[in-house]
Amino acid sequence: MLTVMKFGGTSVGSLEAIERVSKIVANTQGNKVVVTSAMSGITNFLVACCEDLEYMRKDTLETFESKHLEVAKAMLDDKQYAEFMKEFKPRFDNFKALLYDEEAAKNPYYMDNVTSQGERFSSLLLCHKLRSMGYQSIALTSEDCGIIAEGKPLNGNANLRMTETNMGINVMPYISKGYIPIITGFYGVTEDDLPLTFGRGGSDYAAAVVANALNADMLEIWTDVDGFMSADPRVVPHAKKIDEMSYGEAAELAYFGAKVLHPRTIEPVRKKHIPLKVRNSFKPEEKGTLISRYREYSNELLRSAAAKTDLSIITISSPEIAYRPDIVAKILAKISENDDSLYSISTSLSTVAFLIHNNDVKSTLSKLYEMDNADVEKIDVTSDVALICCVGDDLISTSGVSGQIFSAVKEVDANVMMISEGASAVALNFVVRNCDVLPVIKILHERFVEEDEDYEEAE
Ligand code: ADP
Ligand code: ASP
Ligand code: MG
Repeated sequence: MLTVMKFGGTSVGSLEAIERVSKIVANTQGNKVVVTSAMSGITNFLVACCEDLEYMRKDTLETFESKHLEVAKAMLDDKQYAEFMKEFKPRFDNFKALLYDEEAAKNPYYMDNVTSQGERFSSLLLCHKLRSMGYQSIALTSEDCGIIAEGKPLNGNANLRMTETNMGINVMPYISKGYIPIITGFYGVTEDDLPLTFGRGGSDYAAAVVANALNADMLEIWTDVDGFMSADPRVVPHAKKIDEMSYGEAAELAYFGAKVLHPRTIEPVRKKHIPLKVRNSFKPEEKGTLISRYREYSNELLRSAAAKTDLSIITISSPEIAYRPDIVAKILAKISENDDSLYSISTSLSTVAFLIHNNDVKSTLSKLYEMDNADVEKIDVTSDVALICCVGDDLISTSGVSGQIFSAVKEVDANVMMISEGASAVALNFVVRNCDVLPVIKILHERFVEEDEDYEEAE
């Protein structure tokens, strides 16, 4: 049995947290591999440092050093601390050199390199804590493992095939000898040996990539909530934990804004049918949420809702669209030249509308303006909208369900601007203005999750 265990920022954010997760690792049966995020707050700090390197680099180095060394001193005895310093020092010297390297700072992947530094130190702390408890453990960077990443800066994708080959060579031998490898999350390395991050929150995806590469039996994502919930508990305090979900349900919700999992976490594990659990590192006695190929039918109209905010609808008018499908193909080909994510597409007799991130509007428009006037008559942009993703049983197959959802949305006077129903087998998606997201999520939860629960309790 091989379990890949990923710990998020708050789960390794303090001395107490590191001690707590070390016990969780120690108490897990069979072989285990750990993937860790940076200590909470560290990546934000590194992002800020990149934005004003001149002003921030000295402060960053001091804060960074003291935060990690304080924890190491408190949890290790003198001999163990000396061992820790042997690994900490070269990593810290590299980091310092990087912050003063004017040439490297010109590279488009420089910010990836700087922001990936946090994971290199949290992994060392966890590794040395486990050693102090008598376990054989080794801290491996993504470079050591050979986790290969491709793509644009700050938005990498893993090359699963190459990563699997590399990890078979670089990591498997440690597992066979009984070591617990502690691997840096968040980033992989390009073919030019440069760190490339997987986007913010990317340690979940990195862990899924590691689970895929090692053919793990289970991936556990340890975080600060009881599991995957019916809504973001920060928005809906009564959100309830979901016991079981299918890959499809979790993937839709993660892609459309449920921050508990990085949007691309599901794909690498789904490919090999590796089950995934979301668990609370502050309450290891809780079972969490199991995400796998199958789940029991639960007769819940709405199981969970998420929202992706800060999107824009781009509507292109052309009187010919209905008779010339090639125009839609041309428009999509143009937009995809930028490699930006498209969140939804819908067409009518004379328009095609699609949903992209606010930040991608400018570059998308510049591509569309390159098109022939005969193909594109008019372009309208509506910014600051959000896509609400609802996942539930029979949401798509039962008639009248969407009517119930939209009449709840009407109760809070929100205007539905675009709908996607039927494209996904498990989700009903629609677009509202950014400012309507909170009331919409709250009313949906109240009507279809909380009232359902009251009903169950009354029975
Ligand atoms: P980590 O640092 O462990 O990766 P994150 O902050 O990235 O943790 O993700 C966990 C947070 O995701 C929770 O604290 C919660 O506020 C938020 N969240 C958003 N949507 C959901 C959801 N549907 N279920 C659970 N948590 C959610
Ligand atoms: N440390 C990175 C971030 O804050 C990756 C992660 O936590 O998943 O985005
Ligand atoms: Mg996260």
